[in-house]
Amino acid sequence: MGLLWGIDLGGTKIEGVVLNENHMVLARERVPTEAVNGMPHIISQIEKLLSILEKEVGEKPQNLGIGTPGSVDPSTGLLKGSNTQAINNQPFHKELEKAIGMPVKIANDANCFALAEATMGAVADEHPEAKVVFGVIMGTGCGGGIVFNGKAHNGRHGIGGEWGHTVLHESGGKCYCGKVGCTETIIAGPHLERYYFEQSGNKRSLKDIYADYKAGTDPIAKETIDRLIHFFGVGLSNIINVLDPDVIVLGGGVSNLDVLYNEGVESVRKNVFNPTFTTPIIKPKLGDSAGVFGAALL
Ligand SMILES: [Zn+2]
Repeated sequence: MGLLWGIDLGGTKIEGVVLNENHMVLARERVPTEAVNGMPHIISQIEKLLSILEKEVGEKPQNLGIGTPGSVDPSTGLLKGSNTQAINNQPFHKELEKAIGMPVKIANDANCFALAEATMGAVADEHPEAKVVFGVIMGTGCGGGIVFNGKAHNGRHGIGGEWGHTVLHESGGKCYCGKVGCTETIIAGPHLERYYFEQSGNKRSLKDIYADYKAGTDPIAKETIDRLIHFFGVGLSNIINVLDPDVIVLGGGVSNLDVLYNEGVESVRKNVFNPTFTTPIIKPKLGDSAGVFGAALL
């Protein structure tokens, strides 16, 4: 196996990495996305980044993995659901392959997260025997990815693992995707802060709300976090009842809340369709690097 080349395409920066076969980082660089200049410019920025990496490692890539929010619709070949509007509804994948002259594998950033944590992160370290891994991102949004035997599962519509937009409870209200009560509208960071604001009239960060929850000084903070724990249990138990993964790894800012790993796990246990519940629910190890490492592993 040769070197692994991966790119994490974000709204403001494009990050690239080259790994050797033991997953050691040989080179890592970033360039600005400059997305306002449109898709051809974004592609030329990717080319620029690749040539910088090529100089550092002294060889050219044979193929490339790229992770980005959104997914390529298998039926149209067009990218959808990306927060980089310039490449949405565009044949980004095909145009990129044409420009750089090599095969490109493209996957959702949550799939890349799951793949990286499964292959070289928390799951690889703590549960190397795991064959089916579900990776959850709970941050400003809510995403997920499924890994079967070391491979990310995209699915028929390219939406495999998208638990953030499964409908969880109507009280979450309208989601940007057009549905009402998506998981994201209840357990993503900004929505937890919104819930607190609606109940209290005070705008506060999740960090502060959580501190008050821990201190036991604010009943609305308690209500906000108790609601998170409840719906975290309902949402994840739905996934477990269908997929029954060997391990679940959490990521994103909300996953830093320790309460998820004790009371949150209890809430899952209560809701899962089985008298016993042993699925490890673990913290991530790779931090912000998971996206670009996962892209290289594609
Ligand atoms: Zn939604």
